[in-house]
Amino acid sequence: MSGSGGFSTRALHDGQEPDPTTGSVVVPIFATSTFAQDGVGGLRAGYEYARTGNPTRTALETTLASLEGARHARAFASGMAAEDALLRGVLRPGDHVLIPLDAYGGTYRLISTVYADWGVEYTAVDTADPDAVRAAVRPTTRVLWCETPTNPLLGIADIAALGGLAREHDLLLVVDNTFASPYLQTPIALGAHAVVHSTTKYLGGHSDVVGGAVVTDDAELDATLGRMQNGMGAVPSPFDAFLTQRGLKTLAVRMERHSDNAERVADALAAHPAVTAVLYPGRADHPGHEVAAKQMRRFGGMVSARVAGGEEAARAFCAATRVFTLAESLGGVESLVEHPGAMTHASAAGSLLEVPADLVRLSVGLEDVEDLVDDVRQALDALK
Ligand SMILES: *Cc1c(COP(=O)(O)O)cnc(C)c1O
Repeated sequence: MSGSGGFSTRALHDGQEPDPTTGSVVVPIFATSTFAQDGVGGLRAGYEYARTGNPTRTALETTLASLEGARHARAFASGMAAEDALLRGVLRPGDHVLIPLDAYGGTYRLISTVYADWGVEYTAVDTADPDAVRAAVRPTTRVLWCETPTNPLLGIADIAALGGLAREHDLLLVVDNTFASPYLQTPIALGAHAVVHSTTKYLGGHSDVVGGAVVTDDAELDATLGRMQNGMGAVPSPFDAFLTQRGLKTLAVRMERHSDNAERVADALAAHPAVTAVLYPGRADHPGHEVAAKQMRRFGGMVSARVAGGEEAARAFCAATRVFTLAESLGGVESLVEHPGAMTHASAAGSLLEVPADLVRLSVGLEDVEDLVDDVRQALDALK
C-alpha cells in the first residue's frame, strides 16, 4: 500500500514495502556504492551509483513526500545542504531573495555570505506581516523564504497569505517546516512551492543523525534537485537515511507528546516572576496564535522565553537546568536548552536578525512532564 491512509499509516508504510527478495519488513540499509548492470546500461531497478540514488534513500524520500502531502522529496546530507541545493537550483546572480527577520541563523549565514558573494541580493522582512513582504518585493525577487514557527522567536507567518502573494508576484514560496514537522503543518497544501527540512530535528527525532530534505509538487524543480544531488553530491548515507526513516515512524506520537509537554512548560514559565515573556504560539497571548491555530494541528515542542536580568540571567538559567541539557539543536526525545544569542544565532549578531540577549530557547522533550516543569522552576528560582 502507498499514498493512502492516515498520517501514521503512511509514516509506517509508504515507501516501505517488505523487501521483495528477503521479506525483510524493515527497509534494508543498502550499504553499497554501486549496482551491477545486466549488460551496459541494463539497470535492474533504476540504480547505478549511490550518489545518484540508493534504495534506502528512495524509501525515505517516498515517505517524506507522502507525509508532506506532496509528489516529490529529495534527501540531503543536512538541512543546510538541502537549502543550498534548492537555492543553487533556482537562483542566479542578480536575483533577490526575501528572508524572515528571524530566520534560522544558518539560513541567514548561507544567504548573507555564500549567496551574497555569488551576487544574490536579499532583504530581511517581517514575514508575519504580508504588507511588509509585498512592499519589499523587487522586479528581481525570485524567492520568498519563510519559516513558521521561526527559530528562535517562534514567530508565525500566514502560509496561505504568503502563498497568494507569491502567486501574485511570481515568486517561489519556500517554507522551512523544521519546527512544525508535517504532522503539525503541511505548507504545500497551503500554497507553498517547496518545503525544506532539517530532518536532524523532529523528523529524525533522536539527536543521532544530521540530514535535510526538500519536498515539492513541482516535477521540474524536483528534477533540478535530483541534478543537485548528483552534481553536488551532498546526499545522506544509507545509514543516515535508515535512521531518519526510523524516526519518522513515530513522528505523530512524538509530536503529540512534545506538544503536551511544551504547553505545560510554557505555562510554568509564564507563571514565574523571573520570566518577562513566553514565546509559544499555543498561548492565547501570542501575536500569531490565531494564524497558528488555523494552519497547525497543534503548536509543537519549542518554547522560548525572555528572562528578567538580561544576558547574564539567560546564561545562568541555561547553566542551572538539570533535566534540560545545555546544547544546540532541537527536536529530539531529550529536552535541550540554549542561549540563541551566544549559540545557534551568534552568526546573526550585529545584523537585523540579532536575537535578544535575554532569550532562552527550550526544546521540550519527552521526559515526564512533572520533571520538566520542576526543572524549569528550580532553574528560574535560582536566578533571583
Ligand atoms: C537546524 C535547522 C536548519 C539547518 O539544518 P542542519 O540539519 O543543521 O543543517 C535549518 N532550519 C532550521 C529551522 C533549523 O532548525
